[in-house]
Amino acid sequence: MTTTEQFLIDTLTEPEGMAGSQLAYAAADAGIPWDQVQQARSSLALRTVPGPTGQESRLTLDHRPCIDCGTSTPYLEPNHPLHLCPDCTSPITTWRWEPWDTPPNRGRITVIAAQRAAGWPAEEGPPQPRICGVVTNKALPGSPTCPEVALWKVTVHRGQNLASSNHWCNTHLPSKHRPATEEK
Ligand SMILES: [Zn+2]
Ligand SMILES: [Zn+2]
Repeated sequence: MTTTEQFLIDTLTEPEGMAGSQLAYAAADAGIPWDQVQQARSSLALRTVPGPTGQESRLTLDHRPCIDCGTSTPYLEPNHPLHLCPDCTSPITTWRWEPWDTPPNRGRITVIAAQRAAGWPAEEGPPQPRICGVVTNKALPGSPTCPEVALWKVTVHRGQNLASSNHWCNTHLPSKHRPATEEK
């Protein structure tokens, strides 16, 4: 964690946040340039909220707990809207393409496949890894589901709309959703 991030966590302790100018004075007192505060926005869940009527807007940190380990933290997974602490952040590699076999006149289809090195955490419920959950034998009623951690998150978009969102382990990722080259 950088000094700037630590400064913001120590300073923005109130849920209603702090007026931007007040934070700017506090940052100057701590010897932290304002552009560093702006840069920390990408790693901290720092939000601008409207101030009371007629007053300037305020900056606040989102204090929801980490969805992986449950520790309270204002961190965001870089490049992805997941609430995770620094210990639980993990590299995410994203591929994006338009399938060549899209039927004409059905709107433009975009596939976004994101692989998270440590697997995806469940976004709801108690902190835990997200599992693949694919039914391993569809012909057999009550057959077990895949217990592997979901490494892949694949969303399919039609135009601006989300058409589907699924998580899979590496084995069960459908071949049509596997990036042609597993590189960015
Ligand atoms: Zn965590
Ligand atoms: Zn699986």
